[in-house]
Amino acid sequence: MDSNYRIETKCIQSGWKPKCGEPRVLPIYQSTTFKYDNSDQMGRLFDLEDAGYFYTRLQNPTTDAVAAKITGLEGGAAGMLTSSGQAANYYALFNICEAGDHIVCSNSVYGGTFNLFGTTMKKQGIDCTFVNPDADEEELAKAFRPNTKAVFAETIANPSMVVLDIEKFARLAHAHGVPLIVDNTFATPIHCRPFEWGADIVTHSTTKYMDGHAMAVGGAIVDSGNFDWDAHREKFPGLTEPDVSYHGITYTERFGKGAYITKATAQLMRDLGSIPSPMNAFLLNVGLETLHLRMQRHCENAQKVAEFLESHEKVAWVNYPGLESSRYYALARKYMPEGTCGVLAFGVKGDRETAVRFMDRLKLTAIVTHVADARTCILHPASHTHRQMTEEQLAEAGIASDLMRLSVGIENAADIIADLNQALDTI
Ligand SMILES: *Cc1c(COP(=O)(O)O)cnc(C)c1O
Repeated sequence: MDSNYRIETKCIQSGWKPKCGEPRVLPIYQSTTFKYDNSDQMGRLFDLEDAGYFYTRLQNPTTDAVAAKITGLEGGAAGMLTSSGQAANYYALFNICEAGDHIVCSNSVYGGTFNLFGTTMKKQGIDCTFVNPDADEEELAKAFRPNTKAVFAETIANPSMVVLDIEKFARLAHAHGVPLIVDNTFATPIHCRPFEWGADIVTHSTTKYMDGHAMAVGGAIVDSGNFDWDAHREKFPGLTEPDVSYHGITYTERFGKGAYITKATAQLMRDLGSIPSPMNAFLLNVGLETLHLRMQRHCENAQKVAEFLESHEKVAWVNYPGLESSRYYALARKYMPEGTCGVLAFGVKGDRETAVRFMDRLKLTAIVTHVADARTCILHPASHTHRQMTEEQLAEAGIASDLMRLSVGIENAADIIADLNQALDTI
């Protein structure tokens, strides 16, 4: 059985299961639609009576095989792909929230998520309280309201590198009868599987390490199947009461551990349609096959680079959870004993201009709006990804205005360090 395989084996073998005579490699089903012999067969699919394909906005065999692989890597019960990480996080919440509801979210999440929850979902009537993830449980409990429907945080926050105390957040969510949703983009299931620590749902921007080559934007949602929606029926009527837009189906009754993902597919994907293309799902699968090898090298290189930067006289500070000096070192050892990720944050001595000058002198390290792929790259969040945030919001999110986010690639570490060194020499 697949689920007994070790994670490296799952990266290669899970997902696509060719039958006798079928292609060994996952085929790209570049088709919007699927053919049936009679009307009743197709009708049964629309009624969710039979499992099968009829229209790629709902499901596609290429996409499903890749979703199954990611679900296996996370140890979940069901999963789906989306067109982007943003769509994954939006669907993960919108699947269980509606106007009048409320969510609790770590204040150190990715800037795009911060805007989505703090501004766009607010316009839809869903309120979000941002909390300091390092606060104690008593303090955090104050953020909950009777209409709170979920708690959200990132395993390793982008770009503040805050490591989440997953068990603390899971306890807190469950004490309030709601699921914990964790964005596991940076750690990947190679280094952390949040379900093993009590998280209920995991999301990904597969655009990052999973794809690994900066080829395709994508996202994923995986459900552990562990959250008991029926035990909190009144909070989650969308899952526990008949769906009028689907002939009165009650998802928890009909689909058990698959309820949450079936609803997200049959209702949200049907109506909102943020599907990945089969071609992009295929590319993602190629990336997943080497995820375990790449994560190991990303972490080895990042550790060396972090140690180099920490010992350099022109560097003001380095934040990498693999450094003993990091306030998150202990949490990282607990939740990610084999390594965290290849991203680190640091600042050079001087002002904001010094940081910009340093970045402009880099040669191998490219300035790109990306992170977590094979090539070393750098970004200054205050001038780039987090430009929309005020100084106050930046400070709250733990992003210093001199913070540079360095994404250490899988080149030879000595070449990366030499590049950083020559740029530091010029400032
Ligand atoms: C990049 C990122 C996202 C958004 O994903 P896209 O694929 O760019 O839409 C969400 N969460 C985290 C942690 C990210 O790094």
